[in-house]
Amino acid sequence: MEQWLKELLGFLPEKRVLTSLADRHSYSFDASFGEYLPDAVVQVKEKREVASVLKIANRFQVPVYPRGSGTCLSGGPLPVHGGIVLDMSQWPADINLRPRDLTVTVAPSVLTSNINKAAEEHGLMYAPDPSSAHVATIGGNLAENSGGPRGLKYGVTKDHVLGLEIVTPEGEIIKTGGQTIKNVTGIDLTKLIIGSEGTLGVIVEATLKLMPKPPAVQTMMVAFDGVRKAGEAISQTLTSGILPAKMEFMDQACIVAVENFQPVGLPVDAAAVIIIELDGHPETLRIERKLIEEIMQEVGAEEVIIPKSDEEAARLWHARKQVSPAIAKIKPTKVSEDATVPRSKIPDFMDRLQDIKEKYNVEVVAFGHAGDGNLHPNVLCDKRDVEEMKRVELAVEEMFQAALDLGGTLSGEHGIGTMKAPFMELELGEIGLEMMKRIKDSWDPNGIMNPGKIFPEKGQKLVLHK
Ligand SMILES: Cc1cc2nc3c(=O)[nH]c(=O)nc-3n(C[C@H](O)[C@H](O)[C@H](O)COP(=O)(O)OP(=O)(O)OC[C@H]3O[C@@H](n4cnc5c(N)ncnc54)[C@H](O)[C@@H]3O)c2cc1C
Repeated sequence: MEQWLKELLGFLPEKRVLTSLADRHSYSFDASFGEYLPDAVVQVKEKREVASVLKIANRFQVPVYPRGSGTCLSGGPLPVHGGIVLDMSQWPADINLRPRDLTVTVAPSVLTSNINKAAEEHGLMYAPDPSSAHVATIGGNLAENSGGPRGLKYGVTKDHVLGLEIVTPEGEIIKTGGQTIKNVTGIDLTKLIIGSEGTLGVIVEATLKLMPKPPAVQTMMVAFDGVRKAGEAISQTLTSGILPAKMEFMDQACIVAVENFQPVGLPVDAAAVIIIELDGHPETLRIERKLIEEIMQEVGAEEVIIPKSDEEAARLWHARKQVSPAIAKIKPTKVSEDATVPRSKIPDFMDRLQDIKEKYNVEVVAFGHAGDGNLHPNVLCDKRDVEEMKRVELAVEEMFQAALDLGGTLSGEHGIGTMKAPFMELELGEIGLEMMKRIKDSWDPNGIMNPGKIFPEKGQKLVLHK
């Protein structure tokens, strides 16, 4: 047995240091691509344990891969160089709410939707709402800077964090930020850690902002006979003085897939639909709803559907959440991307996706948070078909280029991980990427925290075929 493993077993119970092949296999994949076996899985339950694990890993230069629920879509928790998977999911899921301060302090293992549930008991809400909120951990959300439909009005995870507690790669416990809304003491390390994908340390506690829950919501669904019209409707709405909480887009392939999966009566003949949620005072919502109906008429929408009850509205939002599982039924493999463009460029991006689809003869469907320019083009394919997967690789590469050409970014919310690392220089330039790497090297001199992520390794390419 390796000396580092012996030392871990010196303070952790054997049942929380998993080394059997079956256990290691269970932690070898996430919701994206690729399988990598770790040497051991270590289940931690409190910050001092994390500190001790990192001290040992740093001394023996063993890679450490933090993992929440493993729902990452970019390869973030994959143990690409073996070593330790640090499983945070067994950590007691403590939620300490302070309604008078509108703040909450949470353990890294808490499922994000449970933070919102706890807040709602006090008439409050935790705004970030990734579609995976019921299964993903807040630790994973912080590491990925996750977003969701409500990001349009309320921003993403980073906009709701006041402070963090982190274990550094050298095993020291530090705090960043604090509990106050205002805090400009020094360089903002909280923002540095959020979105760093577990490459700078392990998040062991977070203090988050809560806000009053809006008194009312209004859902609307609008159907279009052309994708460009849907893009136009989004632009017109957002420049009309109304800021909906959510504006979600589904193309026809997604609509049909959901209807085949769990029918809710979506208009299958429409080229696209937008599902909108307004929130605020009921009187304001009445006015805004009327204005949006007028805008939709002006841009030539086919139909505006107003749900007759809360249950009907909930069914529409459930349908939106079902897109991912529904399209996964079309073909065995789904490559989910989240290239993001300035919102006015969505119609152009949709045109580029159509060209890419035809050029590489691949099946591409699109849905996502169109209100903030964050589309999720998904390539549906079969990973056993090597020839098809090579075409998919080229198609994905060209999608990234298209997003960048339109002034966009490689990732709006799913992160870089392993999947987008080869394209980092395209967006950041050589020096920009090098400056990021310098930060990483100074935080983690032995390179033990989540190596193989964000920063491309020499000659690294996107490989989706074996
Ligand atoms: C069906 C589906 C829908 C999704 N919808 C959305 C969406 O709407 N919006 C969105 O943004 N994402 C979405 N995702 C992606 C994913 O759910 C998010 O990235 C989520 O934040 C990952 O959380 P997790 O607990 O599963 O983390 P993991 O997948 O386990 O890890 C993600 C990353 O975080 C790091 N990490 C985890 N915990 C810690 C910690 N405590 N300290 C430091 N680093 C840590 C890992 O090393 C890894 O790099 C979706 C995924 C699926 C499968």
